[in-house]
Amino acid sequence: MESGSDCLFCRIVAGEIPATVVRETDTTLAFRDINPQAPVHVLVIPKEHHADVVTLAQANPALAGEVLGTAAAVAESEGLRADGFRLIFNTGPYGGQEVFHAHAHVLGGEPLGPMRAR
Ligand code: 5GP
Ligand code: ZN
Repeated sequence: MESGSDCLFCRIVAGEIPATVVRETDTTLAFRDINPQAPVHVLVIPKEHHADVVTLAQANPALAGEVLGTAAAVAESEGLRADGFRLIFNTGPYGGQEVFHAHAHVLGGEPLGPMRAR
């Protein structure tokens, strides 16, 4: 399993690659996406390496809950609560996952349109 120095998000957790951190807990980190797809686009990750959300939820359901809690706190602190937002875990090839360290996308700040383009 890719992790540690091989994994981009593990390197962000280790402070080896800079990121704009918006929230941190003992077990999670939230930082702005380098290529934002909406006015607010924050990634929320567990500090512990898991390849995707399924692995995370199966191996450590409490940590999966903490990722959700941090995502909710980010939505509040970014002012997304009133108008709403989207929370996405891209998973595997059909999901378009590019970074294989579990992460939630918190997207908002404008109407996001239909859930998927057809
Ligand atoms: P995925 O497609 O795996 O769901 O999402 C990966 C996300 O990571 C993409 O939205 C991409 O823009 C973001 N990303 C890739 N490399 C970096 C980086 O070095 N720093 C930050 N902050 N985001 C990154
Ligand atoms: Zn990792």
